[in-house]
Amino acid sequence: MTLTLRPLIVASGGEARLAVAGLAPGRAYRVAILPVREPGTRLEMDVQADARGRATWAQRVTWQGEALCDILVDEGQTPAATLYLYAAPPEMLRRRPLRCDFHVHTTYSDGRNSPAEMVLRGRELGLDALAITDHNQYVGSREAIEVAERLGLGLLCFAGEEVSAPDWHLLAIDARAPIEQAPAGYAGLRAAIDRVHSLGGRAYLAHPYWTTSRRHHLPPADYERLLTEGGLDGIELLGDVAWEDNLRSLARWSELGVEGGYPILGNSDTHGAAHTFGGFWTLVWAEAQTREAILRAIDERCSVACGLWVLEPPGQPARPRLQAFGPFDLVDLAIFLDRHYFPLHDALCREEAELGRRALAGEALPEATMAEVAARLAALQTECWAPAPE
Ligand SMILES: [Zn+2]
Ligand SMILES: [Zn+2]
Repeated sequence: MTLTLRPLIVASGGEARLAVAGLAPGRAYRVAILPVREPGTRLEMDVQADARGRATWAQRVTWQGEALCDILVDEGQTPAATLYLYAAPPEMLRRRPLRCDFHVHTTYSDGRNSPAEMVLRGRELGLDALAITDHNQYVGSREAIEVAERLGLGLLCFAGEEVSAPDWHLLAIDARAPIEQAPAGYAGLRAAIDRVHSLGGRAYLAHPYWTTSRRHHLPPADYERLLTEGGLDGIELLGDVAWEDNLRSLARWSELGVEGGYPILGNSDTHGAAHTFGGFWTLVWAEAQTREAILRAIDERCSVACGLWVLEPPGQPARPRLQAFGPFDLVDLAIFLDRHYFPLHDALCREEAELGRRALAGEALPEATMAEVAARLAALQTECWAPAPE
């Protein structure tokens, strides 16, 4: 018996219409809801499965965060199954989580694969948004936008480049045109940030504490000056640098605090389809899957820098574990979504990528099948999120 509880995400403080499917038709059940943050609270109710094995009820959502939903049979206290739901702040119900990577290289600079290959691999990895950011090269990102649109993928691509000087790298995202200049030194970095802004883009500092040739690439004194003087739109908190350099980024950012600090990104900085792609990403809670809404959500600090940390206990198989850094409420929700939503989302992304791959290899684009997968993904979100309160 496979039980499903819908929706998964409900508004805290309101009332939600919950439904469990997969029950024995006509049978009575007791449901116990156990909010994880309130060890003393247990909310119980009796429900009755209909002829199709489905029970629905109205639930007051008095708690915040994750809750276990035990399905008890015959008033026994041992659950026949445990399902999960999450009570989020009401304003979060208007947003959907999008997995984004804003730092990816291709053959337009020192990467191994073409923009089209990275677009398909990105979707296969479950990305919802992607920016190709070659070193001082803008054209690859335009090519990725064109490919993703032509194939009808649910992967939104951004214009981008990694503006690269001898002593700093800056991600220019969604600028109208190439940045073209990357003069060395702090003044050069500031000029590049201004140029990104004048072209309507966002300027995110890449890998602040990256060590190369045994020393930091960007002088930490320049980074400190930038943090003080402002102007950056965000910081790449996690990425493909030595792990210790990510720790330095995290340490400095946590000293600044969520309020005083900058918006944050996690990016793969991958140089190929089989490099670090999928190992780091930014989880963005946006009100729509549009470039404007995604960038605005990052501005509003509605993002979490994520990655996979591979745990290798001696003598046991390696296990990838989620890492997530950001405000507590977003990290808590990211953990829940990683377990209960993203596996379903990712399976549909893989189907879409497979269709796209065949089309790129010369087969006719299966537009109807592509549209059907997109509709299933939209339906999954409608099922998993309760309607946003008025
Ligand atoms: Zn770089
Ligand atoms: Zn890079």
